[in-house]
Amino acid sequence: MRRFTGNTLLVATHNQGKLEEIAHLLEPFGIAVTSAKEHDLPEPEETGTSFVENARIKAHAAAKATGLPALSDDSGIEIDALDGAPGVCTADWAETPDGRDFVMAMTRAHDALEAANAPEPRTARFCCTLVLAWPDGHDEVFPGTVEGRIVWPMRGAQGHGYDPVFQPDGHDITFGEMDRWEKNRISHRADAFAKLVKIFGPA
Ligand code: IMP
Repeated sequence: MRRFTGNTLLVATHNQGKLEEIAHLLEPFGIAVTSAKEHDLPEPEETGTSFVENARIKAHAAAKATGLPALSDDSGIEIDALDGAPGVCTADWAETPDGRDFVMAMTRAHDALEAANAPEPRTARFCCTLVLAWPDGHDEVFPGTVEGRIVWPMRGAQGHGYDPVFQPDGHDITFGEMDRWEKNRISHRADAFAKLVKIFGPA
């Protein structure tokens, strides 16, 4: 596995919530982040059918455009009673002509569960695939998950995206009610990060 020995990583995301979480997770390793936005990078089309395909598209596009190693995150939520939906379409469920509306997306997920008469607990998982790509075309892939359930109504104003309807296993509060240190300790992104950081620094 190739090691990362630099001190700045380009994070290939335009999503401010993800960028802040990733910067927070990298802080203890003395690695600074620079964003796709700062480099004025276009958002590549996510044409893949899996988290890993989409993460690869984003990381390689950013590494190629800047000549820097680039880290991407493709993530989403899989709801078992909906056959894994929204999955790679997690962000699409929030799209409106005026930007993303996650209250609408969470309501859609709840309505679909009600329509399917899905029994409780409505098990689900957040998935995160991190890809670190180098400008020479090499990459390393780090997958992570956190298991939990979909609850209703939404609870909590912290976090981002679908956090207010996701209650991780072993907790009675949602990600939306959890402080970010606690979420960052147990999240799908933390799981993937724990694998990523093993390649930081000299061997
Ligand atoms: P991506 O930018 O294509 O990876 O979209 C990921 C989608 O999953 C976005 O809509 C996010 O809001 C949602 N998502 C990913 N991670 C989280 C999380 O930690 N909490 C809540 N929603 C998340």
